[in-house]
Amino acid sequence: AGVRRGIVIKDDWPGYSLDLFTYPEHYHEDIETVYIPHGVIMNRIERMAHYIMDDFGDNNIMVLCVLKGGYKFCVDLVEFIKVLGRNSNKYLETRVEFIRLKSYLNDQSTEELHIIGSQDLSFLRGKCVLVVEAIIDTGKTMKALLKHVETFEPKMVKVAGLLVKRVPNMAENLTDYVGFEIPNRFVVGYALDYNEYFRDLNHICVISKTGKMKYKV
Ligand code: 5GP
Repeated sequence: AGVRRGIVIKDDWPGYSLDLFTYPEHYHEDIETVYIPHGVIMNRIERMAHYIMDDFGDNNIMVLCVLKGGYKFCVDLVEFIKVLGRNSNKYLETRVEFIRLKSYLNDQSTEELHIIGSQDLSFLRGKCVLVVEAIIDTGKTMKALLKHVETFEPKMVKVAGLLVKRVPNMAENLTDYVGFEIPNRFVVGYALDYNEYFRDLNHICVISKTGKMKYKV
């Protein structure tokens, strides 16, 4: 079970003091702590790449990257898959496609889910698909996306989620590869945003009250 849940971050984990790391000066007052340092994120993704290689066997991987939040995770994950392939002489072909979804305003999930980019996913037919998403909260977004993906009749669909939130009414576990299981807090950085800010932060951080006010729309 531990492996499936990924690295479990407990509710009382305060994060690291900002002074211990470097981060963009313009966010000085806008973040509270470094919740998951960039290096740890990278080390975990490397391990996730191993699991994925094992499961996909000799099948090529159709990667479906959920924008915008998933772009860094996707790039780093695919890179690790390629490095592992080179080092083990087991080259899997990877093809990356992008889909853009939007369901959040400020730090609240909204009801409607919009698919913005790449709606024709017919190239997924009969293929082994890896959906790559930065964060799974209630699971609503992923559930809707998986339903959409299934209509194109892929051979197999797996989900890689860098972060999975521990929320009360979590839908059934949709994530096959979990990076970190985190408490129900709003996090930013490593391409995760708050109204488009903080994507340029390489650590995953907890936003401060000041930050929330400053970038509210
Ligand atoms: P769900 O449908 O699972 O509730 O929400 C998933 C989506 O909500 C993610 O794709 C992401 O865009 C957004 N989201 C959920 N929690 C967070 C969070 O803590 N930080 C950020 N930046 N986005 C989040």
